[in-house]
Amino acid sequence: MGGGMQHTQIQGLGGYNGNHLFIKREDLIPFSFGGNKARKARLFFREIDAGGYDSVVTYGSGSSNHCRVVANECCRRGLSCYIISPKEASEATFNSMMMDLFGAVVTTVPVNLVHDTIENKLADLRAAGKHPYFIEGGGHGNIGTEAYVRCYSEIREQEKALGVHFDCIFFASGTGTTHAGLVCGQILNNDERSIVGISIARKNPRGRDVVLESIRSYLGDRADESLIQRATVFIDDYTSGYGKEDERVRETIEFVLKNYGIPLDSTYTGKAFMGMTEYLKNEQIRGKSILFIHTGGTPLFFDDLNKI
Ligand SMILES: *Cc1c(COP(=O)(O)O)cnc(C)c1O
Repeated sequence: MGGGMQHTQIQGLGGYNGNHLFIKREDLIPFSFGGNKARKARLFFREIDAGGYDSVVTYGSGSSNHCRVVANECCRRGLSCYIISPKEASEATFNSMMMDLFGAVVTTVPVNLVHDTIENKLADLRAAGKHPYFIEGGGHGNIGTEAYVRCYSEIREQEKALGVHFDCIFFASGTGTTHAGLVCGQILNNDERSIVGISIARKNPRGRDVVLESIRSYLGDRADESLIQRATVFIDDYTSGYGKEDERVRETIEFVLKNYGIPLDSTYTGKAFMGMTEYLKNEQIRGKSILFIHTGGTPLFFDDLNKI
């Protein structure tokens, strides 16, 4: 596939609540329905290809975009793919159906046994003479962070080409390396702007701490702690996924689909878009250029469609 990657499109959506809104279409990365997991997987599989591995072990829920992409990358290479999945989140989804289609072997266990099951799976494969590669859930780790440091550089190039400076960047923050990579990119380039991660599950302070740990792990001694602290904004107001908030996320998804023709989902991008709207309102941000990163999850849009 070559070393580089084409830039994902940045599309202008026009005025939005007194600001200029742009969206970066990571959902259109041209492999396996795209998304941030496709961007991360590209770097992981570069290492897998170079290292002569014959199998991959990872973990995630039945609705995991990461597991779908990894299973697809394994399938096209003829590598065995083993996915450990928590029983508590294993209902059938379009992603889990694709994992099956790609021939991934999914082992479902109670969430407290996921860690040991991964260790046992790796030990069993090695004992059988196999050479497995382990990828953390969500593509966590420095390689995942690196993928979004590169995305940040891409955004800077696109700003020059478009003649715009994005004052704020918003996106859904989950396992944290998308967030960490963008902040590392900002720090390494000395850029002035706000990078705002909208948490889709974790609460403060833990959610933000995980992002901070990823940033420190990637940067090492290249940045001082006060700079890292200042640059890391993690909003945890929209994590519940129950009742009234659910309804507002659904309205957001409908609005974005009807007005822009862009699919969002209720787990990640729909929450993040709603969180962005609220943040702009609460912080009284006006007249700015805003970039929303569409991190993918298109199969989840279709799962949601069944429930509307
Ligand atoms: C995984 C995921 C995220 C969160 O990315 P992290 O790097 O895990 O924080 C956001 N959006 C979508 C669609 C995802 O699949």
